[in-house]
Amino acid sequence: MSILAGFMLPHPPLIVPEIGKGQEQAIQATTDAYHKAAQEIAGLKPETIVLLSPHQILYTDYFHISPGKSAVGDFAQFRAKQVSLKVFYDTEFVKVLEGLAESRDLHAGTLGEREKKLDHGTMVPLYFVNQYDTDYQLVRIGLSGFSLADHYRLGQCIRETAGMLDRKVVIIASGDLSHRLKEDGPYGYRKEGPEYDARIMDVMTRGAFGELLQFEESFCDKAAECGHRSFTIMAGAFDRTAIDVKRLSYEGPFGVGYGICTYHARGTDETRNFLEQFEASEKQRLLARQAKEDPYVKLARHTIETYIRTGKRPQVPEDLPEELYNRRAGAFVSLKEDGRLRGCIGTIAAVHNSLAEEIIHNAVSACSSDPRFSPVEPWEVERLTISVDVLGDTERISSPNELDPERYGVIVTKGGRRGLLLPNPGLPGGQRTVVHAYLTSDCLHQLWSDHLPGPGSDREKTAEKFPSGKPDSVRGKLRLQSALPFLPEP
Ligand SMILES: [Zn+2]
Repeated sequence: MSILAGFMLPHPPLIVPEIGKGQEQAIQATTDAYHKAAQEIAGLKPETIVLLSPHQILYTDYFHISPGKSAVGDFAQFRAKQVSLKVFYDTEFVKVLEGLAESRDLHAGTLGEREKKLDHGTMVPLYFVNQYDTDYQLVRIGLSGFSLADHYRLGQCIRETAGMLDRKVVIIASGDLSHRLKEDGPYGYRKEGPEYDARIMDVMTRGAFGELLQFEESFCDKAAECGHRSFTIMAGAFDRTAIDVKRLSYEGPFGVGYGICTYHARGTDETRNFLEQFEASEKQRLLARQAKEDPYVKLARHTIETYIRTGKRPQVPEDLPEELYNRRAGAFVSLKEDGRLRGCIGTIAAVHNSLAEEIIHNAVSACSSDPRFSPVEPWEVERLTISVDVLGDTERISSPNELDPERYGVIVTKGGRRGLLLPNPGLPGGQRTVVHAYLTSDCLHQLWSDHLPGPGSDREKTAEKFPSGKPDSVRGKLRLQSALPFLPEP
């Protein structure tokens, strides 16, 4: 048995007395639990600690693993420079893990280090561990913008690496819970904050790791959690493993949730193959969803399947609704995978002879030549959520109040530059704020909107044109926001 145990640990800097200067007394239960967890870790005498930190450098499409032989860190950022520590990395483990991840098509490795110094997501857990044990090597891994399933897969790679090297490994999943538990907390109050904490503590207390994969990204965003992906990587490291679970503590007096649970491996349990179970149910869900796709989306999906299989654009099929042959209009084809944008290309006005051709051309571009993404791979096609927006005639508007991002798209034009935002009924609150911020900004001097009923009531889209200083960055900002919520500590 190579993964001995795992620990869900928070990282509030003020729990360190030199930083808290008395404030730490408000989270005494967390401190007590932390000492208990650190003693358990020392008792296991791990050769390697794999630490997952949300405050290590983060990429949307890469898991960063700290390179090199060693690193140091201190709490200077929190006015306690005197508290410092040094770690030695398990370079052999890192090398094997990198190779294994690559063979599984998971982008992970030691490239792109921006900050060699240890982050506080690493420092706080090790501050406690080192009081009882310093005789270990560290593997330090950051989170990514990949799906939760991919975080689980990375955990499976960690598990296999530990097995291949016959290392005695302890996993530390560093992560705070919601940052929105209280009005006077760092990010204010939102009902999703306490909801997230209750749900995650329930899941983690039962060791019901499969349920981690079912948390919706938008719910996690609203709750402003920090550690969910750390916990999910740890879950992957316990794939098919029986565990003893203990919940040691939960507190949140400063508006941020801190939970501590411990997991000790107790042999194999083939029924805990959570990723496999998740993928099977996802497949059912995807098939059911595809069956309900409208003719526009069906055409886009047929196009993408054909193009990826043969490298050729399909002919316009003969069984489409009339308006797809008779009408000309701009159209956008958007692809999402696991809730994340995977490609989106379109035309603001018609450039082809029919709407069908417009959709076919844009579907090919969306899956093969969106400059922001690599081309869609054959295995991804069935996982894609495809949407097709048909643009109506533009109509000028004179005030941001006429704009409703839930119903209308927006076209921003200034000089020769143009930016576009598709109507989005599911737009998270934060993104709506971005749109409104642009609309009310000083550089706004002309505002347009589109009004053109589409062939079905749900296709009635309105695009509104308005000039903005940075029209392209409207979309840029939206992408960034949806990539991953990232929170500085209070
Ligand atoms: Zn954090």
